[in-house]
Amino acid sequence: MSALREDIIELIAQEGPITLERYMAIALSHPTKGYYMTRDPFGAGGDFITAPEISQMFGELVGLFAQEAWRAAGAPSPTRLVELGPGRGTLMADALRVARIAPDFLAAIDAHLVETSPALEARQRQTLAAAPTSVSWSADVAQVPPGPAIIIANEFFDALPVRHFVQTERGWSERLIGLDESGALAFGVGEGVESDLAVAAPEGSVIEIGAIGARIMRDIAARLVAQGGVLLVVDYGYAQTALGETLQAVARHAYVDPLEEPGEADLTTHVDFAALARAATAVGATVQGPVTQGAFLRQLGVVERAEALKKRATQEQRAEIDVALARLTGAGDPKRDMGELFKVIAVTHPDMPLLPGFFRE
Ligand code: SAH
Repeated sequence: MSALREDIIELIAQEGPITLERYMAIALSHPTKGYYMTRDPFGAGGDFITAPEISQMFGELVGLFAQEAWRAAGAPSPTRLVELGPGRGTLMADALRVARIAPDFLAAIDAHLVETSPALEARQRQTLAAAPTSVSWSADVAQVPPGPAIIIANEFFDALPVRHFVQTERGWSERLIGLDESGALAFGVGEGVESDLAVAAPEGSVIEIGAIGARIMRDIAARLVAQGGVLLVVDYGYAQTALGETLQAVARHAYVDPLEEPGEADLTTHVDFAALARAATAVGATVQGPVTQGAFLRQLGVVERAEALKKRATQEQRAEIDVALARLTGAGDPKRDMGELFKVIAVTHPDMPLLPGFFRE
């Protein structure tokens, strides 16, 4: 049994059942035993692989997007180039490398990374040791230094805790995690009723609410409206709010039971892009997209970038570049390919023109 599972069982035995939001927060971010706090889960040897770890092309094109967005915003100086949940720091390193081709952009930016995990922050410091700009860190979005900002969030919102509500004969009640007769963690339903949820659905239906993500989105969008800039969100998810739940647990590249090994498995959900967009527009920001990751990257020139890289590559590397391009932009293998499953939105100050990647194809 994972050490954290014992802690959670103990907590529930003392305090009673806990919400899924609290369970996920403990499982992912417990200061010493949380999933992200203790390890580097990325890459072939880890639990899952993300776009910047698949190919340098991803971070380079996001870096080019950042340059274009900065110009579209009137090239303010200084501008914060911010990343939320930067993992190994690979995306930021690739984006800063392509910033060298735009000396005016490079001179205007400083980099800021928002990361809760000390283990991953240490990893990011290594990756960015030779960065061409100053780099600072904080554990909280609220601590990003003020001013115009280009903010990148790749696979960040999927990692935030969510709440589940279950339709009962009394109305929507929150899904809780308690203990079954054998003392093991088990899902149950609370006694209260959430009268704010005015959604009609048959008994047994589940609704997933990303309240923490919506709050972070609202705060960032308000900042962009007041101080200028853009937030680029790339994540797996769906364009329209729908009934149902998408909680998944992954360890060593396979799905596992989300209650089995808290702290040892990554817990994520699919992102409700419509809910994020509502949180942003409610405070006066504008939302571009969603477009698919495949369309976004193609419009930014990923095919041309792959060709350029292949010219300088060995035969083996050329094959790897083709595989990476298919994973990033394709949809042939729905389990592996990210091109359609992943969506992209840009949340901007209302004066921002349509940005590259978001034109109709
Ligand atoms: N963007 C990276 C990593 C995605 S995994 C990539 O694409 O490879 C999620 C990242 O978000 C991890 O770095 C994790 O530690 C971080 N994270 C999770 N919850 C967070 C929070 N509330 N605030 C800041 N970072 C968080």
